[in-house]
Amino acid sequence: MARRKLVAGNWKMNTTLLEAVALAKAVAQGAAASNAEVAVFPPFTWLAAVGEALRSSSVALGGQDVSSEQKGAFTGEVSPAMLTETGCKYALIGHSERRHILGESDATINNKLHAALDVGLHVVLCVGETRPEREKDGMKERVFERQIFAGLAGVTANQMAKVVIAYEPVWAIGTGLTATPEQAQDAHKFIRGKLSQLHGETIGAATILLYGGSVTADTAAGLFAQPDVDGGLVGGASLKADAFLKIIAAAG
Ligand code: PEP
Repeated sequence: MARRKLVAGNWKMNTTLLEAVALAKAVAQGAAASNAEVAVFPPFTWLAAVGEALRSSSVALGGQDVSSEQKGAFTGEVSPAMLTETGCKYALIGHSERRHILGESDATINNKLHAALDVGLHVVLCVGETRPEREKDGMKERVFERQIFAGLAGVTANQMAKVVIAYEPVWAIGTGLTATPEQAQDAHKFIRGKLSQLHGETIGAATILLYGGSVTADTAAGLFAQPDVDGGLVGGASLKADAFLKIIAAAG
């Protein structure tokens, strides 16, 4: 099953408005010839300006989070429809910083995922183990299984076409420690198996699985060459156009 490659840049709470627009323009220009799909996830406040900078490019726009509610008295939240109206294709859901720093549960993440899918957004669902979970025998697999089953609870087979999974080992995010290609492949294979268990082999084989965790221009090619790694979710290295474009080039 040929899956498209996807490289996504998570800018987190970084960039000024001017930096965000300049970075978006440089990515749009540099990625024009890429066969991989490219997406950027700027801070909410820059989405409209970055969307404008990306107009007439093939680079997709995404929100770093989304509310589980569609509208109403939820101060500070951003609804799924607000993301689509601002030109977003994607919503990032369940990033480890939201799980572990902001305390989001699997149930919250599942509610957000449904709210996003309900308005037609594509979602990138992040899963991954902490260092102690990796070190305990059999534990990381239990974490993947729980995060996948709970995160995707109630998602239909048809909706799976709009679901991307990002495997992001927590110990590798923003730490400069990258999973080896073999560690990433093992995790992706296991996760793909869980998707097949939920929705059958065809959907398991068709779902895009990204690796995230300190991906750099030097490590990208080895990771993306793995059979079950379909691209990357990139934090720090997506803030510099040249480094990000090298990672995109490694995806083909
Ligand atoms: C991320 O934020 O999803 C991420 C993978 O960050 P970094 O590449 O900086 O580890």
